Amino acid sequence: MYKLFIICFLCLGQIHVVCSQDTLATVTAEKGDGILSLLRKHGVDPYQYYDEFVNVNIDNLRDSVHLYEGQTYAIPKVTLDTVPIESSLQEQSKEIKKIEGKTYDIFGEDHKTVLPKSERLKEAVYYLVSGHGGPDPGAMAVYKGKPIAEDEYAYDITLRLAKELLAHGAKVYIIIRDENDGIREERILDLDNDEVAYPDKTIPLNQLARLRQRVDIVNNLYKKNKGAYQRLIVTHVDSRSKGQNIDVFFYHHEKSKNGKRLAENIHKTFQSKYKKYQPNRTYSGTFEDRTSLYLVKKTHPAMTFIEIGNIRNKKDQRRILEPDNRQALAKWISEGVILDYEER
Ligand SMILES: [Zn+2]
Repeated sequence: MYKLFIICFLCLGQIHVVCSQDTLATVTAEKGDGILSLLRKHGVDPYQYYDEFVNVNIDNLRDSVHLYEGQTYAIPKVTLDTVPIESSLQEQSKEIKKIEGKTYDIFGEDHKTVLPKSERLKEAVYYLVSGHGGPDPGAMAVYKGKPIAEDEYAYDITLRLAKELLAHGAKVYIIIRDENDGIREERILDLDNDEVAYPDKTIPLNQLARLRQRVDIVNNLYKKNKGAYQRLIVTHVDSRSKGQNIDVFFYHHEKSKNGKRLAENIHKTFQSKYKKYQPNRTYSGTFEDRTSLYLVKKTHPAMTFIEIGNIRNKKDQRRILEPDNRQALAKWISEGVILDYEER
């Protein structure tokens, strides 16, 4: 009888120690978990702590962004009492957000609050154009029996990029807009054709008219913001280069020194990210001038034209369909953009 009591006591003692030091600060990934959903589940703002999570857990992530089912991960910033206080922690952080952040409905209900991270881009103006939109879905493919379209994925990455730039104090114009598609956490993004051009212009069907419309919008705004540091970033998820095993293309105008530098800086950022997070993969992005592209030729701000893989390519689909990856791509572009601004 006496013995039994001792054993139980020891057990309890042990469980207590494990709880306060390990179990509550680390979690085990379950089937279907991604970094964002795992952080969210544990009451941590996934966008605030994404980088920190990756840094702390880098050895246990595939391609720097994927969790392994059954693997244990450290959750940043959450120390004790995760489970019982989770909901009140979440409420608390929501309240703080309301006070500090600015709200942009275009990002959707769950993503509309932008929390300031810095003022590093305070004087900078960005025009973000996601490829295609409106009556033109861009490149299309079928994934698990469902149609997927380039414009929806380019738009999602562009929104994520916009949010990053806003958080660093930039002025951002989202040129192609969809009032009812915010940032989406799904793999399959439903297609629609109700995108408009800034502020609310119907996008024409005719290709030349469509391109001319966005050129005019950007050039008019450029005039309005005259004197400021202004850059245009165009994002596509298809690729003109066939049969090449290249990750990301960056194009710029051959005569634009600033456009070339912006493309180089984003390219450089991608190179260093690959080295850091995917040392076993070689990054094979390229950058070159492509004055033949209508938007590259006709728009006035210095610009870079980015092709993030190809939605029709099976290997690229893996990267583009995963919301965590779209977030990582947007983040990397934003870091290149900041680098460029600070080097000006
Ligand atoms: Zn395209």
